[in-house]
Amino acid sequence: MTGAEEIRQGLGVSGGIGIGRVVCFRSRTHEVFRIPLQEHQVEGEIERIRRAVGIAHDEIQAIRERARDELGDELAAIFEAHALVLHDDLFLLRIEERIREKRINAEWAVYRTAEELEKRFAGLESENLRARAEDLQDVSRYLLRSLQGIAHHELSEVEGDVVIVADDLTPSDAVRLGRQRAVGLVIEGGGQTSHTTIIARSLHLPLVAGVSGITQVVGDEDPVVVDGSAGTVTLHPGKETLQRFRRRQREFSIAIASLEETRAVPPVTLDGERIELMANIDLPEEIDEAVRYGASGVGLYRSEFLYIERSPELPTEEEHLEIYSRMIEAMAPEPVVIRTYDLGGRKLARQVMESEEDNPVLGLRGIRLTLARPKIFEVQVRALLRAGLKGNLWILLPMVSANDEVRRFREFVTAVMKGLDEDGLEYSRDFKLGAMVEVPSAAITADLLAREVDFLSIGTNDLIQYSLAVDRNNEHVSYLYRPLHPAILRMIRFVVESAREAETELAICGEMASQTRYTPLLAGLGVRRLSMSPRTIPDVKGKIRTLEIPRLRELAAECTNLGSADEVARCLESYEAED
Ligand code: PEP
Ligand code: MG
Repeated sequence: MTGAEEIRQGLGVSGGIGIGRVVCFRSRTHEVFRIPLQEHQVEGEIERIRRAVGIAHDEIQAIRERARDELGDELAAIFEAHALVLHDDLFLLRIEERIREKRINAEWAVYRTAEELEKRFAGLESENLRARAEDLQDVSRYLLRSLQGIAHHELSEVEGDVVIVADDLTPSDAVRLGRQRAVGLVIEGGGQTSHTTIIARSLHLPLVAGVSGITQVVGDEDPVVVDGSAGTVTLHPGKETLQRFRRRQREFSIAIASLEETRAVPPVTLDGERIELMANIDLPEEIDEAVRYGASGVGLYRSEFLYIERSPELPTEEEHLEIYSRMIEAMAPEPVVIRTYDLGGRKLARQVMESEEDNPVLGLRGIRLTLARPKIFEVQVRALLRAGLKGNLWILLPMVSANDEVRRFREFVTAVMKGLDEDGLEYSRDFKLGAMVEVPSAAITADLLAREVDFLSIGTNDLIQYSLAVDRNNEHVSYLYRPLHPAILRMIRFVVESAREAETELAICGEMASQTRYTPLLAGLGVRRLSMSPRTIPDVKGKIRTLEIPRLRELAAECTNLGSADEVARCLESYEAED
């Protein structure tokens, strides 16, 4: 397809440049891609759709019988209507025709045919026929599900580099797509600290978020350039534009390669104060980068991504053990902070959740969820304790909102140790236990919490979300997501003071830690340990080496007395302008 060059502006949240062809991903409905087929694959695809119809048929029959037994004939009739739609020639023949004519995969043919027929039914006068539009939706859902159970096409079958353009992507979509052929992502929603963004950064995948309506204007296979640093999406780039972006791509790679040069330089201020820089790790392979960029340990391993990657299987104890051991060994004697599963919220956990929630971000997530699922949690904690023998293990609990959760975890650990003793397995009793401070109640009672644990780690991503009542994934309120809000600065100050008084270690592991514009203020507030994605360590280190602590203390005192995030931002700007 050709078209005029057109630039759309969004929010650049994961740097780098991706050049490729669009694959549209409509995750709010189904995970359906358009995959072009070779001539010889067409008959196989027709076979697939017919088998899928058979499976969907059996599924609908089973549900219909159950509905009749449990709910009566009237409701069972809904499923009779589904069976009729499933076998309707209008629907099925049209799907097969589409596969043949357009030489495309069955999923896409189902999706497009259902869309076309739904539109036709929805516009009709008759209520009965309008109701069939809904039946069609349900039936195509069954069909897509059964198709995906039958050796389905993967994105890796698409030729060339792919830029995923989506209404929304979950973090697990991002992991999966990033590991396949995607060279860039563009989404309508999202923000600076959403987990999808965090994963894109881990995978070094350029991501532009908040490009509203983009899925409506692009077509599959359109050429596109994603600039995750500038936040632009260039559709149908012309020859010169492509050349310019290719040049920038090369410059970007050279700049990244030079980052390793500062590995041995210490993160020390001009007046000799050391600020430890640790690595945030989402995917186990990032440990090598953490070492390359000179991290003094891992400050946060988000272990839930281990689950998300294996989903729907749960990782076994041996899988946990192998990954944790590798990380701990690679970093020894430096600490490795492994956070127990922070599932729930937007980090979907279907197998663990058991039921849907209306408001998952305030629901059963983090430590609440794991304590409520002791069988699953036990597997993780056993592996953690066993891996602890390999070096310096710190265990971190997510979403702690009150001291009793820490106490319940300690009791849980005692029971887990008993089980390990009974099994004759060796493990470490010598680990540090910490709590995330990311819920306002934990921040406000940090003095109490600091006495319960060996270390605290401030998760500014969630602390800002929960304190300011601003969804970190919602592009419509992203203007209110203000790390410099006086409430946040005061909470950080109080947590730092509480940790100091209780002689408890303290770190910041939210995204605020990785941005050099906040480094002077955080250092002035007394923070001496920051954890961030490995690639940002050299930048933050460079900043630290220009700082002088006495001046920063004044700066922090001034900023925490200002009335608004804007005033604080201005104050930081004038500090930066000083010679
Ligand atoms: C945070 O909330 O700041 C944090 C580090 O945890 P996550 O981003 O995984 O929620
Ligand atoms: Mg968090």
